Amino acid sequence: MRYCRFDDDRLGIVRGDRVHDVTPVLDKLPACRWPLPAYDPLIAALPKLRGDMEAMADRVTPVPIASVKLKNPVPNPSKVIGAPVNYHAHIDEANRDKEISFGKTIKTIDHYGVFLKSNSSLSGPSEPVPVVEKDRRTDHEVELAAIVGETCFDVPEAGALKYVAGYAIGLDMTIRGPEERSLRKSLDRFSVVGPYVVTADEIPDPENLDLEILVNGQVRQKSNTSRLIFGVAKLVSYCSNFYTLYPGDIIMTGTPEGVGPVQAGDVMHAKIERVGEMTIAVTRRTAPLPPPAPAV
Ligand code: MN
Repeated sequence: MRYCRFDDDRLGIVRGDRVHDVTPVLDKLPACRWPLPAYDPLIAALPKLRGDMEAMADRVTPVPIASVKLKNPVPNPSKVIGAPVNYHAHIDEANRDKEISFGKTIKTIDHYGVFLKSNSSLSGPSEPVPVVEKDRRTDHEVELAAIVGETCFDVPEAGALKYVAGYAIGLDMTIRGPEERSLRKSLDRFSVVGPYVVTADEIPDPENLDLEILVNGQVRQKSNTSRLIFGVAKLVSYCSNFYTLYPGDIIMTGTPEGVGPVQAGDVMHAKIERVGEMTIAVTRRTAPLPPPAPAV
């Protein structure tokens, strides 16, 4: 099953190039009061509601997906986890290009572990990504995003994929510079998730998917998730050794080689085999950023 959030927060089932509006199913979610739950209520309820969503989708008249505004389908994760330097060829390019590594020698993910991106940086394909035009380089990073389906802690790698509800395309937009990743990767709309969630049953092997991103029609990044250093199962296990994972937590699994800058007016087109594709505009950020501190 593929589901999306669209227009004014409507829930859709995607079949082919059409969206079936199943928003009334959301009335079956438990009513929330303060404090709100620390997880995405729809993902948590998905095993129960999936049948209702599919049944309603059968009954309603769909509209072309091109006619709706797609938003991030996972709006309420407890956290967005990023996996740094998780492809060898990306580490090699970072060590060649001082604008990426900022004078540091980059090691592999084993050394750094994972990092968090702010939830307020989440956005969907219909929302342009704002970047500064000068001084600071902002790069695209296309990544497979795994969406946690069940609360889990300290799970072994073998069997870890059963805690994944589904997958989406993630863009881990990044300002290059010496600051912490959590700052440089958490600007508004720097975590693009879309075009929809594809449930895990449609993706039997997430560790063998072609992924790519084009900017203005030119291929920039093109690889396969089989080249991940920490594969999806290992990442879920690794993260769960540190944090409790909750339904809706988003794990951006890392980006392959070919990262590069984007500027206002550019159009990004990201694609992952079996997951889908999406087009995202880049726009100008109106407030300037401070210049980077000197490299240490
Ligand atoms: Mn990344």
